[in-house]
Amino acid sequence: MRGVRSPWSLAFLLLFLPVLPAPASEEVAGLPLHVQRLDAKTVRVWVGDFVSTTNVVAFATAKGIVVVDTTGVPRIDRELRGVIARELGRTDFAALIDTHEHGDHTGGNSAYADTAIVAHERCAAGMRRDPAARERILAWQTQHLGELETEAAKHAAGSVEARRAAEQLTFGRLNHEVWKENAAPALPTKTFSDRLTLDMGDTTFELSFIGGMHSASDIAVFVPERGILMTGDTMADRWLTDTPGCLASFTAREGVPHDFPLLLENGRRLLAQKERVRTILPGHWNGELSFAGFEARLKYVEALWEGVGKLAKDGRPLEEALAAFPLEARFPDLAKSPGFNARNHVSTVSEIWSLTTGLRNGATELFSLIEAGAPEEQVRAVLADRGSKTPRYYFLEREINGRGYLFLNQQKKAAEAVRLFRINAELFPASWNVWDSLGEGLLAAGDAAGARAAYEKSVQINPESRSGREALEKIRAEAAKSTS
Ligand SMILES: [Zn+2]
Repeated sequence: MRGVRSPWSLAFLLLFLPVLPAPASEEVAGLPLHVQRLDAKTVRVWVGDFVSTTNVVAFATAKGIVVVDTTGVPRIDRELRGVIARELGRTDFAALIDTHEHGDHTGGNSAYADTAIVAHERCAAGMRRDPAARERILAWQTQHLGELETEAAKHAAGSVEARRAAEQLTFGRLNHEVWKENAAPALPTKTFSDRLTLDMGDTTFELSFIGGMHSASDIAVFVPERGILMTGDTMADRWLTDTPGCLASFTAREGVPHDFPLLLENGRRLLAQKERVRTILPGHWNGELSFAGFEARLKYVEALWEGVGKLAKDGRPLEEALAAFPLEARFPDLAKSPGFNARNHVSTVSEIWSLTTGLRNGATELFSLIEAGAPEEQVRAVLADRGSKTPRYYFLEREINGRGYLFLNQQKKAAEAVRLFRINAELFPASWNVWDSLGEGLLAAGDAAGARAAYEKSVQINPESRSGREALEKIRAEAAKSTS
């Protein structure tokens, strides 16, 4: 039998060939194009091998082509529209659905301005660009592009590192163009609040609000006839690259409007469709989501909404709610799963507790007052709220400390950081950590004597504190140097 190919080796080849990534033979705006056929009438397209770009999914229906999401770059989306038309063999684009407000999903809406643009009612508000943020982003992009150019030139031509850097540079430049141009966004033309069904003849699109754990306007798009569920950027339980981008966190954030009962109701409706869901697609190509991962995340929200909500209604403090729902012990599988970390978890528990009690985060209020340079009596008025019979705020040590570091590290405002760290030391004098942070702030502000006193207090409470002992040694050595 020598020389005759055994049927087994052929089977072996067929089994393993499909998992090899096909090299992209075509480019869109200088980026490798990927086309995946999900079935005869459905296609998923995206660009890039490294950067975390958006999945664009297109459905040929009896009433025209429906596209879900765009990339952040209109130029890419105009070209992708051509690719979709070619792949589906038609040009009758009828509707675009935005899974949520973020620019990397809605930034290419203008490529479909001749169709209906469907989204959640909060989507448009989230699409507006803040002019002050725009200035900061443009400055950051200019600096970042310079760094990427250096990085791209560093690596041997053709190496993976060189390809990655070149791709980041190309994508970075495209995004920079978008921000420079600052064209008016194409806003949704058809919106809904809780659920909406788009009847496209042979195909239905069941849209439902599942927002609040990523943005204010996240929706799920379920297409029962194709067995496809799209979840936008709300979640992923596997990241295919080490740059998950928008898929990096599953958390409720302060300032994002929430409707947990609606999120949970819509979540339950989707879970009930389990038998009909064949494919789940997150919003970016470099994430995957299993039905089990989807279910676990919804159960997590449900457990917190009910459990933390009950404690809050019973008048229990936030600290108790946090202690009752430790991430690692209560949700051991999720604790190690993409999108979860201690910080995200605390944020979700706090938001739920805050929504139920109506009490707002005092740290945020203090931060904005100090940022605006408010006089001391205004700050004192917020603090006086603490003992009042009808309080408006809650105060968490770690939240206040976190805002202090926002001043210190990100904004480089040591004086403001010190003001906030001092309040924290006043509110939580038994915590060695707040004194340690105050020492760090005072040192950055140039007050070595004050820093020394704060660090001494911290080490007195916690003699084991290495950061405190090291800081004190440094301060003493500096003092010795200046006096000698
Ligand atoms: Zn997003």
